[in-house]
Amino acid sequence: MLVCKFGGTSMANAETISKVAEIVNSDPDRRYVVVSAPGKRDASDTKVTDLLYQCFNDAVSKGSCHESFKLVREHFDAIIKGLNLDLDFSEDYDEIEENINKSTTADYAASRGEYLSAKILAAKLGYVFLDAARVVKFNEEGELQLHYSLDLFRNVMENIERAVIPGFYGTKPSGEIKTFTRGGSDISGAIIARAAKADVYENWTDVDGFLRADPRIVQKPELIDCLTYRELRELAYMGANVLHPESIFPVRSVGIPINIRNTFNPDSKGTMIVAPNKRLDSKRIITGIAGQKGFTVILIEKAMMNSEVGFARKVMSVLEYENISFEHMPSGIDTLSIVIRDEQIQNKMQKVVDKIRDAVNADNVEIHSGLSLIATVGHNMASRHGTAATLFSALAKANINVRMIDQGSSELNIIVGVDTYDYEKAINAIYHAFMEAENGISIY
Ligand code: ASP
Repeated sequence: MLVCKFGGTSMANAETISKVAEIVNSDPDRRYVVVSAPGKRDASDTKVTDLLYQCFNDAVSKGSCHESFKLVREHFDAIIKGLNLDLDFSEDYDEIEENINKSTTADYAASRGEYLSAKILAAKLGYVFLDAARVVKFNEEGELQLHYSLDLFRNVMENIERAVIPGFYGTKPSGEIKTFTRGGSDISGAIIARAAKADVYENWTDVDGFLRADPRIVQKPELIDCLTYRELRELAYMGANVLHPESIFPVRSVGIPINIRNTFNPDSKGTMIVAPNKRLDSKRIITGIAGQKGFTVILIEKAMMNSEVGFARKVMSVLEYENISFEHMPSGIDTLSIVIRDEQIQNKMQKVVDKIRDAVNADNVEIHSGLSLIATVGHNMASRHGTAATLFSALAKANINVRMIDQGSSELNIIVGVDTYDYEKAINAIYHAFMEAENGISIY
């Protein structure tokens, strides 16, 4: 059995929803379908979710969302008309507009896009509409109650063979609507897949899957046919954002694979995200490369630092006190570097440097800004000789100065820090070096 989730671009208009229906109908195993709110129909359009946040803001600031809500009505009416459905949303619209005007919550307003979108697809497919409010549960603090939600869905499933479920939201014990963070329908889909014990969780979007590098930086990068949940975490953390990063948690512990598919190119097999023991054999050395700009390094030097008990703790205490989270902490014999996102340390730089200097009696504390991090990720890296050599000779050949190196103990990735002006050049150098190495052309 398959659980499918269709994103905003797939649900944007009557034409795309017809494609969705065709996909669902082409395999009777596709029994539970989770949907996003309609996305943009073209570049100048606004996503329904964004319109609904606007409605909420208008209700709060002007006392009424009547004007902005018209655009929501129009978008859905155009879809209903285009699909020739015998549906009348007048009552729903009036109730939603009234509720938003009564200043319920931004979450309530935003959730209505998914709610109406699911009703439309359910009508188109002849499936039951199952409101996520009944089965996706949070506590009053807004934390997902996974096991409670799974039990509720399993009970409902016994009587419902096929259903369309709105993504993105659920309810708190008080009945108040609560949404996930943006893009959260991916998480809803994962919960339903887990509850339904799906063989595969299909996540249908508008790209073929994860690419081995950012196509805005590398020309025509290859598609990743298969990667593990852990590799995905590493790549997503570094900016590869096809899927909501939290959506792997409900399915990972039970090993349900996620298959990223393209509604607009259903012949492509997409990307499979699997447990390590289900990986496909591959001649690949690395799985992918991802990176992010905008980091600062604090470099702390002190003679005999390595034998000083409590050194790192004192540094960490300063960061904790200043409410700064750090990303990496590579260390040398007499040096410790701390890599921090710019936004965490902006406005506090001098204060933090002074405090660290005092706390550990450092010989020298320096700040280097303008750093970008690049993660080269892959399970196969661990079992191969020369992976690091390929990476670093590629950077040396391209005349790129490596400012920081961090290889996680899992050997799943090597992270390098380079000056931001070298960022694009570095990613290209690494990508092409590994492509050549995989094709048997040694470059070092
Ligand atoms: N519609 C919501 C958003 O735009 C949630 C989703 O599509 O997953 O973020």
